[in-house]
Amino acid sequence: MQSSWLWCNGASTMTRILILATTTGYQTRAFGDAAVRLGVDLVFATDRCHLIEDPWQDHAIPIRFYDEDASVAAILEAARERPIDGVLVVGDRPTVIAARVAQALGLPGHPTAAVETARHKQRTRESLRAAGLPTPWWIPVTLNARGSTRRVPAHSPQPSQPSLEPLSYPCVVKPVALSGSRGVMRADNETELATALDRLRAIVRSPELRAERNEAHDAALIEGFIPGREYALEGLLHHGELHVLAIFDKPDPLDGPFFEETIYLTPSAALEDTQRAIVEGITRAAAAIGLHHGPVHAECRVSPSTPEPQGRPEHGRGTTGSGQAQVFVLEVAARPIGGLCAQSLRFSLNPNPKSLIPSPQSLIPLEELLLRHALGDAPAWRREPDASGVMMIPIPRRGVLRGVDGVDAARQVPHIVDVQITAKMDQRLLPLPEGASYLGFIFARGPHPRAVEDALRAAHACLRCAIDAEFPVLDAAQIHYNLRHG
Ligand code: ADP
Ligand code: CA
Repeated sequence: MQSSWLWCNGASTMTRILILATTTGYQTRAFGDAAVRLGVDLVFATDRCHLIEDPWQDHAIPIRFYDEDASVAAILEAARERPIDGVLVVGDRPTVIAARVAQALGLPGHPTAAVETARHKQRTRESLRAAGLPTPWWIPVTLNARGSTRRVPAHSPQPSQPSLEPLSYPCVVKPVALSGSRGVMRADNETELATALDRLRAIVRSPELRAERNEAHDAALIEGFIPGREYALEGLLHHGELHVLAIFDKPDPLDGPFFEETIYLTPSAALEDTQRAIVEGITRAAAAIGLHHGPVHAECRVSPSTPEPQGRPEHGRGTTGSGQAQVFVLEVAARPIGGLCAQSLRFSLNPNPKSLIPSPQSLIPLEELLLRHALGDAPAWRREPDASGVMMIPIPRRGVLRGVDGVDAARQVPHIVDVQITAKMDQRLLPLPEGASYLGFIFARGPHPRAVEDALRAAHACLRCAIDAEFPVLDAAQIHYNLRHG
C-alpha cells in the first residue's frame, strides 16, 4: 500500500527529507531522482564553508562536521522554516549529527549514543564483548599524533589501559575512527607491527585528517587477526527489527597486509546455516551497539569452527557453540552502503516476488527505498532475483593518473552493466593503506553470482592504467616554511 505522503504535493505541505552528505556526488543525485518520483522535497546539509554562499546552487544547509553542536543548531534553525519529516545520511562522518537532529525533531532513528559507538571501533568492540558476542582480543594504543617524540616500541605498545598481556601474531593495527580500510594493516611479527604503527601515525598526521579535528584519530587498536571469509550485510532496522536487504560475499581473500575491498557479490553463495548465523550475529551486534531504526551496513568475518580466533582466549568468547562457524562482527555502521556501490542493489516493491517476476522497469534503486523508509514505510522489499556484483577497482600503484585504456572493451564483456572510472586524469593516486579512494567501479548482473564474478574479473582484466611516477610537490605550507627558513 502506498503511503499518504505520496499525495502531499502542495509546496507548503510537501513532505521533506533531510540528507546529510559530505559533498554533493553521485548518491545525492540518485536521491534527487528518487525524490522527484516520490514527489517529496529534499534538503541537503553538507560540510562546507558558510562564507561561500551556496556555491553549488543547491540551497544546502552549510555545516561543519567537526562542529556537531553548531551543525545541529544550524539544521534545527533551517527546519523551523522548512520542516523536516525524515533524516538520512550518506557516509560515516555525519552519522552522529543526523542522529542528534532526528532525536531533537522527535523523528525515529538510531539513538545518538549508539551511533557514537558504531563510529568508534574500540567502543564497538566493548559493546560486543559486553553482550557476550565473539570478538578478537584487542589493545588500545595512543598514536600521539600531535608530534610527541614518544614512540610505541613494537614489543610493548603504549596502552591507554594498563594491565595488558603481551600481544600475539598475526595481529591487525587499525585506527578507531577511519573507514574504507584506511590505515588497517596486518602485522606478523614485532618489526611489522612497529612499521605499521609508524605508517598509521603518518596517516593520522596528514593535513586532510587533521582538518577533521577528530580526537579519535589519535587512537588505534591492535587486535587479533580473525581468519576466515568476509561478508557484508545491507539492512534496515525498523523500530529495532532487522530487515535484510542483501548479504554480499567478498570472494577475494582479505588476509592482508592491507585490506582493500574489491568485489561484492549478492546473493551470497554461503550455506544457509552460515547465512542464518551471519544475520543472527549482526542482529545481536546491532542490538548490543544500541542501533534501532534506519539503514545499517555491517561487515563480519566467519571463522572456521575453532572456538577462539588466534590470540588470547579470554576475550574471544564464542557464543555459537563448537562445531559451528563463528561470526565475528567487525562493524555495524549507522548508514547505507557507500556511494556508487549502491548501484548494485535494485528492489522490487512487490513483497512476494515468487508470484511475479518483476520487470526491470519496475525495480527501484536503494535510494528510493531509503526515502520510503525515512518517510515511515515498513520494509517489505525484496532484492531483484538476478545476481549482482560490483568491483571497487583498486588503485594499482602510487603515482599520477594519465589514462585508462580498455574501458569500452570492459563494457562489452557479457553481464557487465557499467564501468565507471571515477579517478580524474592527472589526479595523484594513493593506494591503501594511505589512500581513501578507488580507481572506479565495475557493475555486473547475471543469472548466477559465479557468472557475475567472472564478468567482473574479465572486465577488470581489460583495463590498462597509465600512471606516471610522481614528482615531489611542495604544498603551500611547505613553500612558506622553506622561504622563511632559507
Ligand atoms: P574500516 O571501517 O576502515 O572498514 P574495518 O575494521 O572494517 O575498518 O577493517 C577493514 C578491513 O580490514 C575488514 O573488512 C577486514 O578485511 C580487515 N580486518 C579488520 N580487522 C580485522 C581482524 N581483526 N582480523 C582480520 N581482518 C581484519
Ligand atoms: Ca569496514
